[in-house]
Parts: sequence; C-alpha cells; structure tokens
Amino acid sequence: MNIETKTAETYVAKTKTFAELRDGIVSGSVKAADLAAEYYERIEQVNPRLNVYLSLTKERAAEQAAKVDALAAKGDPLPPLAGIPVGIKDVLVMKGAPATAGSRILKGYRPPYDATVVSKLEAAGAVLLGKLNCDEFAMGSSNENSAYGPVRNPVDTDRVPGGSSGGSAAAVAANMAVATLGTDTGGSIRQPASFCGVVGVLPTYGRVSRYGLIAFASSLDRIGPFAGNVRDAATMLGVIEGLRIGVPVEYFGEGLDPEVRERIESGINSLQAAGCTVKPVSLPHTRYAIPVYYLVATAEASANLARFDGVRYGYRSPSSDTLSAMYDHSRDEGFGAEVKRRILLGTYALSAGYYDDYYLKAQQVRRLLAEEFIRAFAEVDAIVTPTAPTPAFKLGEKTGDPLAMYLADIYTVTASLAGICGVTVPCGATKAGLPVGMQVLAARLNEGTAFRVARAVEAAQK
Ligand code: GLN
Repeated sequence: MNIETKTAETYVAKTKTFAELRDGIVSGSVKAADLAAEYYERIEQVNPRLNVYLSLTKERAAEQAAKVDALAAKGDPLPPLAGIPVGIKDVLVMKGAPATAGSRILKGYRPPYDATVVSKLEAAGAVLLGKLNCDEFAMGSSNENSAYGPVRNPVDTDRVPGGSSGGSAAAVAANMAVATLGTDTGGSIRQPASFCGVVGVLPTYGRVSRYGLIAFASSLDRIGPFAGNVRDAATMLGVIEGLRIGVPVEYFGEGLDPEVRERIESGINSLQAAGCTVKPVSLPHTRYAIPVYYLVATAEASANLARFDGVRYGYRSPSSDTLSAMYDHSRDEGFGAEVKRRILLGTYALSAGYYDDYYLKAQQVRRLLAEEFIRAFAEVDAIVTPTAPTPAFKLGEKTGDPLAMYLADIYTVTASLAGICGVTVPCGATKAGLPVGMQVLAARLNEGTAFRVARAVEAAQK
C-alpha cells in the first residue's frame, strides 16, 4: 500500500476504502502494523500545516495492529474493521490518552477509561491513531475556537474545515486516517464533512452510546462517523451503534430440534461478540399463531379460489349433465387434496354463525400479535429466532399429517400475520450437514435493520 504523498500545496489524498485495505490484510499482503506506520508518516508530513491531530496514540495503535496481524496470520476470521486506521475527535475519551476537548481547561487530563465507541471500534479491529482537533467543547462552526489553533482545510489551507469536528473531517480528506469519529450537536459532523468533501453521518439520537463523550449539550450531542464513501461510513456506524437484539423465549420451547437450537444460540453469541446487546423478549400470543394463520389464510383462500368453478376459466369437468354437478366435478377433479382441505376449512370459518367465532376472532388475535411485536420493537431493534423448528425433513415424512406440516410454520407465521419484515440467513449446519437458518425480524419498513443483523450473522460464518 502506498499512500500518495502530495506536495506541500496539495493536501487532499484519495482515501482508501475499507474493502481495498481488508483484502490486503486478510491475504497478509498488507500488515496492519505497516499500515499504521505509513499513516503516522503521512501525519508527520502534513500535520504541521493542517493541525489535525492534537495527540497520537502510537503505542496503543501498535499493540492493536499486532493483534490484528496475529489473527490474520492464524487465518482466523477477521472483524469488520481489522487493521483500519481510525482517528478520534478529542471530545471522546481513550484510557490514558490526553483528552482536551480542544480546551485549555482540560490540558493534561488523561481519562482513566474508554468511551463505549472507542471500545467498540477496537473490538471490531480498528487501529486508533490519535485524537483529533476540534472546536473547544465542540462549540463552533469553523474549528477556529480550538485552544490549540485552527485546523486548516486540506482542499485549500487558507480556508476553514468547518466545525466543530474540523479535525475529523480534515483527517479523512487528507488521508491522515481512513475514517474518523466526530460529534454533532447542531451540525458539527455534517457541516465539516461538507466543507472537506467527505461523508459524515448524524445517527438517530440514542443509537450510539454517549458514554465517554465530554458533554456539550447532552440532549443534542451525538457521535457519528466520517469516511471517504457512504459504504464505509455505514460500516463504521454498524460497529459503533448498539443494536439491541431480542430473543423471544416462546420460540425456544418444546418442538425445537436440539441441533437447530444449538446453531441459533451460537449465532446469537456471534451477534453479541459483534457488539450487539442481546436480551430476552416475550411474545406470549405466539401460541395462537398457527390457528390464527390457518384460519385467516384458509378464509381468504376460499374466497379467492371460488373463481375456479369450471365456468370462467381453468379446468371444466366433461362428465356433468347439470350446472351444479359441473361445479362439483370440476372442483373435485381440478383441485388437489391440500387445496380442497383449505377451501373447506376457510368456507367453514367464514360461514354464517361461525364467522364471529372463527374468522373474526382470528383477526382480533392477529391484531394482538401485531401489537405485541410493536411493543417488542420499542425495546429492541431486531428479533432473532430459528426460522424453522427442524432442518429439512424427508419427502413423505409429514404428508400424511397436515397438522404436523402446519406446525413446521410455527416460527414464520407470526411475522406474516403482523405485517413486519424479516430475513432468513444461513446459520451453520447440523452434524448431518443440513442447513439451519436464523430468522431476523424487524419492525415494518425496517428491512435495513434486518439486513444489518443478518450480515453480522453471515460474516461470523466465514
Ligand atoms: N455550530 C453549532 C454551535 O456552535 C453546532 C456545534 C456542534 O454541532 N457541536 O453550537
């Protein structure tokens, strides 16, 4: 990897993407330690003019890089930010490293602990290079309020980089880090990112822990990433956010194949290892899901399939002398056993006198199921479950027993009824080599969250 070293006049350098660096680190052609050293060299060259870094954390970076290189050498799976050089705004604390918040009043302060975002970045393999200049206590829009002098914009060093996270934006623009963290109270990530020509993210308030952030205005302060491209910024956010994963107790009861349970539990452990918070949730109406589903689905099916009467389209039985016999024979000869069973069940559930007891009741319980999910998604971002209670069963194994077949849907029909979204992602295999899927459910319109969780499970498989 060669960092383009520019002349004193040109400080902007194309930032490497995570993907480019990751390939090298995984293959061993790039050593995290060398990469960090190259970045420190670059910093030494351009920092005197740009004033982006207030302090460097060389020892800690070297230790972390050595860990990443050791993992890569063993051929172990590498975490998402393995070896990626990252800079940290000086309002965020790193154990033992100076934290000034750009103010004289904190000069010499070395905090005794790490901010949550710092721990999460390191757990994801990032190599933290040092602390980035900013406006004093994040107050400003130009980075001219730092007690340690202004940051200069790498695009034109006579201009401001924006503020208050000017150092975080300039570091990425000048390739003095591949990505950085900043904070945004009223625009301090977005405005400097805009001035320096990089990507900056304002995460939803509450998505990222503020533990270890030197506060400016607590109800407004947010921590977010800067990167050279949107994908890398999203990856950074995925690492620092605390995705909350719910595990519904009702999905791990009787009927769950022990090998499936074991695979899913190990998938949940890998989510925890990837920085997710895992907690139990309860979905007590789950036990009604199969009857509710088979009432609603068959009722709607019986209405939909009524059109296949031998008159308008489709098969017509040739052997009938009356209209009503023609209906009977066409349907009898044209439909298979399972479809007939469902039409009968559905017609019964919708029939006068039974409608209130069956179809209407089912719709009411369906509503309770949907509300139960809405409540759960107030506490967790995603819910993970086995997708099916068993691995693929043998042909013919359940064909003689419709009820046993319906029970194969026990974990999937709840989301169908509630209208929420989900992804199933491979989560290992049984000893016999049969695939096991993990179901990742998220609230309506939150497919993005389901993808993020599913991606973390997928990454842990490799
Ligand atoms: N520029 C605004 C201010 O000076 C916002 C700063 C920030 O987002 N930290 O308060």
